[in-house]
Amino acid sequence: MTTMNTPLGQVTLVGAGPGDPELLTLKAARAIQAASVILVDDLVGEGVLAHARPDARITYVGKRGGCKSTPQDFIQRLMLQEVNNGERVVRLKGGDPFVFGRGGEECQVLVQAGIPFRIVPGVTAGLGATAYAGIPLTHRDYAQTALFITGHCRPDGDQLRWQTLARGNQTLVIYMGTIKAEEISRELIAHGRAADTPVAVISQGTQSTQSVRTGTLQQLAVLAADAPTPALMMIGEVVKLRDELQWFQKD
Ligand code: SAH
Repeated sequence: MTTMNTPLGQVTLVGAGPGDPELLTLKAARAIQAASVILVDDLVGEGVLAHARPDARITYVGKRGGCKSTPQDFIQRLMLQEVNNGERVVRLKGGDPFVFGRGGEECQVLVQAGIPFRIVPGVTAGLGATAYAGIPLTHRDYAQTALFITGHCRPDGDQLRWQTLARGNQTLVIYMGTIKAEEISRELIAHGRAADTPVAVISQGTQSTQSVRTGTLQQLAVLAADAPTPALMMIGEVVKLRDELQWFQKD
């Protein structure tokens, strides 16, 4: 319960990176070390929590918490309750909190409640997984644009959007899109992207279990069908650089 004597706690939204704990920033590691309460998303790797104090209270607010997924308003209420009890709360999110991470919504709630907060950015999956797969996002010869998009919202019927997405010399990185792979592949080809454009499906990027499947845009649905999760899809000529670059990559 909040009393006059209970100091208001604080909240730090921390990006935990895409899996490899060594991709955590120093600032993130320090924030985790300083936390008394840590609210953890599904996509956060175990190694990241090794930075937590032994007496920190760690709560999983994703699927690991028991239910299918914890409703966003429950997470937000919990966060406010902890901070009102004077706790130093770290809200730990996979990748970066502001890239398809609902970090913006959580900040709005904190602002409304008058609670000060900090953001510690993280390596988003679109940067980490692609780098570990040996695929550059841009390249002078192959892509001058890279778009990070989500397959989750429905782009159907939006001709303009498909035309923009189907442009050549452009890399698409699609989060949360594997179940939409068939539609994405069909629409991009219908709007002018070559059917033989190279694609990659990167699963569990930057983790020891990372796997990569490559093929063409026409094959995207097959490649994505039973890919281990989390997975992101990458579409663009840059994908063909993987064969050339991966031989020289040391881990
Ligand atoms: N905030 C996160 C993204 C959350 S959305 C970030 O910045 O990375 C969840 C989606 O991210 C997943 O469906 C998947 O498409 C992608 N993703 C997250 N971690 C991943 C990983 N290690 N490898 C591949 N894709 C990943």
